[in-house]
Amino acid sequence: MWYNNILETIGNTPMVKLNKVTKDIPATVLAKIETSNPGNSIKDRMALKMIEDAEKSGKLKPGGTIIEGTSGNTGMGLAIAAVIKGYKCIFTSTDKQSKEKFDALRAFGAEVIVCPTNVEPEDPRSYYSVSSRLEREVPNSWKPNQYDNLSNSQAHYESTGPEIWEQTEGKITHLVAGVGTGGTISGIARYLKEQNPNIKVLGIDTYGSVFKKYKETGEFDKNEIYPYITEGIGEDFLPANVDFSLIDHFEKVTDKDAALMTREIARKEGIFAGNSTGSAIAGVIQMKDMFKEGDVVVVVFPDHGTRYLGKMYNDDWLRDRGFLKDGKLTAHDIIAKKESTEI
Ligand code: PMP
Repeated sequence: MWYNNILETIGNTPMVKLNKVTKDIPATVLAKIETSNPGNSIKDRMALKMIEDAEKSGKLKPGGTIIEGTSGNTGMGLAIAAVIKGYKCIFTSTDKQSKEKFDALRAFGAEVIVCPTNVEPEDPRSYYSVSSRLEREVPNSWKPNQYDNLSNSQAHYESTGPEIWEQTEGKITHLVAGVGTGGTISGIARYLKEQNPNIKVLGIDTYGSVFKKYKETGEFDKNEIYPYITEGIGEDFLPANVDFSLIDHFEKVTDKDAALMTREIARKEGIFAGNSTGSAIAGVIQMKDMFKEGDVVVVVFPDHGTRYLGKMYNDDWLRDRGFLKDGKLTAHDIIAKKESTEI
């Protein structure tokens, strides 16, 4: 038995019970491990779906160039599909993203243009503006626009949602997922709520993002917007893929809590996951009063730890940001101290 190409291996990811990091939660907490997709992230699902829908509608033509502003995971999904289907890829991203992510995209032959993070979306240097300009100027190009392209959430309605329903044998009571474009949470939520409208959908947001306040007040508050470190979730605008009517509650998690929990998941569960996975589990712990015995909570684990080796998995990176727990000397600290006293 074999697959005809790597794209056929997308989806049907495992679900794994968490046993240590969520031990104080009375419910069963299950991780939907999306790192086993070929691009090591959940984004492979929607990247393929956006491409297939654009092929069908004629927006993407043979030999065309795919241009997208992406923080890496969507780019990886698009780049892999482009290799198999014969398209070129140009990606724009921001300088706050991990260098490892850019190198991985380039490994698949994609061109990556790195743009400054701390500029307005309308600024000609922003990654939104640069990708729009390239789309206008590069012949036979197509911009998927993962934020507003509803093929994104549709991918999760058609694949991730049904998988979660089947893997929990319909016992799921709560879905927890980080919200960036909103495709993951909205697509899964739409499928699950059609099966059982009592399922609660909990979105994970970051400090520095507008989602939570918008859900609670209906107000788009610009004061909520400021730079943050967490990658993959939170936004400073409202993407069409976020369906607020399907999300019951948003929980905000700090950069520090997300970073430290990401490490804890590797050390306590043996699951090597990315930054937004730490946000999701830290969020579950913050929300623990919402869960009771017998509940089945499914948490989406979107991407893989290798992309963050130079970040939260690196003690110096944590120390530079004041994130390392106080009073905990590592062997590295002891050696560094010795060297400095000897000098
Ligand atoms: N986590 C990571 C690491 C991501 O790259 C993304 C995508 N931005 C998300 C979570 C959020 O997923 P979505 O865009 O479907 O809301």
